[in-house]
Amino acid sequence: AEEYLQRIEELKHLNAFIEVFNDEVLQKASEIQEKILAGKGGKLAGLIIGIKDLICYRQHGVSAGSRILKDYVSVFSSTVVERLLKEDAIIIGRLNCDEFAMGGSNENSWFGPVKNHADNTKVSGGSSGGSAVAVQAGLCMAALGTDTGGSVRQPASFCGVVGLKPTYGRVSRHGIVAYASSFDQVGPLTHSVEDAALILEVIAGHDDYDSTSSTLPVPAYSKNLNFTGKKRIAYLPETLQSEGLDPEVRALTEATIQKLKDEGHIVEPVSFPYLDYVVPTYYIITMAEASSNLARYDGVHYGYRSPNAVDLESTYKKSRSEGFGAEVKRRVMLGAFVLSAGHYDAFYGKAQRVRRLIREKTEEILNDYDFIILPTSPGPAFGLGEKTDDPVVMYLADIFTVQASLAGIPAISLPLGNNTQDLPLGIQLIGKRFGEPELLAFSNYLI
Ligand code: GLN
Repeated sequence: AEEYLQRIEELKHLNAFIEVFNDEVLQKASEIQEKILAGKGGKLAGLIIGIKDLICYRQHGVSAGSRILKDYVSVFSSTVVERLLKEDAIIIGRLNCDEFAMGGSNENSWFGPVKNHADNTKVSGGSSGGSAVAVQAGLCMAALGTDTGGSVRQPASFCGVVGLKPTYGRVSRHGIVAYASSFDQVGPLTHSVEDAALILEVIAGHDDYDSTSSTLPVPAYSKNLNFTGKKRIAYLPETLQSEGLDPEVRALTEATIQKLKDEGHIVEPVSFPYLDYVVPTYYIITMAEASSNLARYDGVHYGYRSPNAVDLESTYKKSRSEGFGAEVKRRVMLGAFVLSAGHYDAFYGKAQRVRRLIREKTEEILNDYDFIILPTSPGPAFGLGEKTDDPVVMYLADIFTVQASLAGIPAISLPLGNNTQDLPLGIQLIGKRFGEPELLAFSNYLI
């Protein structure tokens, strides 16, 4: 614990942490050490883990990377935190993220951007940028992030770590600051697939506080990581032909496909005709859900209240105008627009129907194949400030992660290479619904 705390201090310029629980960590560490020595340590005893600052931890701040919650203190713990603590993990601090998890570069945080440890002029990815860099730079052993449309997988790929988005409903969302409720899932960012499996095993499972959490039993993922046999894997030719795909990312994807073929797996092209629709569908639905979820920040119930307000209406207007950043405002406005009476059918209703098509087509592919393989992101970590002028360019970079999110199925990003500038590159595997055991075992073999 001391070493991690010291390293966090040394690498402060990365801006990965919003808060470090210094004294508390040392005290907790000695308590857990006692437990371990007495042979009573839990499954995660001694694991030093950071949590994205969107995950509630009783009597600790939770900012969601936003000014509107910057001084807010949680009154209860999320289910995932309860489960980590029960198994004796040590939570080292709160990790920086895009405001309300809206972003793909961690440049939308009220607390400033996170820098990539491989190259400090590059972004960390987002929205769980702090979580990815904290693991990459050795500031903790593992981290929790949240993934709505790629926020665990994409920063994991930019930082050379493993990032898993579980099946929707595998992990409780209770105590997770909501962005888009029909997508949000908590997932681990780790150095190894074993760590991801162990953490998922602890945090997964039904929770009475989240009616969308599944009642399916949680398998012992970490005990079943030895893969043998041959798999059927699909790749989507459209992804490899897509405009804007970095040549080195394409080369790594093709090399991985070739390697799998050489090892005797069946790897075949399967057309996915909806690739052009995944990003617009994802953004219409998530913005709609966000506009509704973020209505609760009104300057009255909790969070920031503008000192300039004079009556109820100006309390709402000014607290929200001053408390939210530009990207959040853009999404709340667009979300309210697509849900409004005159536009609902044309945008929101249609996007819901397209979501179903995307889900059905993806499931159809996964009826024939065990996994889908594709890049995690079209390129490596890009330069800080490089994409901040054009939100649409930033949104389009989510093209490979949102398919699994729209379908609600599990996907993992594996650090399988580096480009010629030594920036990490990630390859993604999408699995069957609740197919985490097979997905993790195969990932462990591939990595
Ligand atoms: N970049 C995507 C977005 O901005 C994904 C974010 C996420 O998964 N939280 O919505």
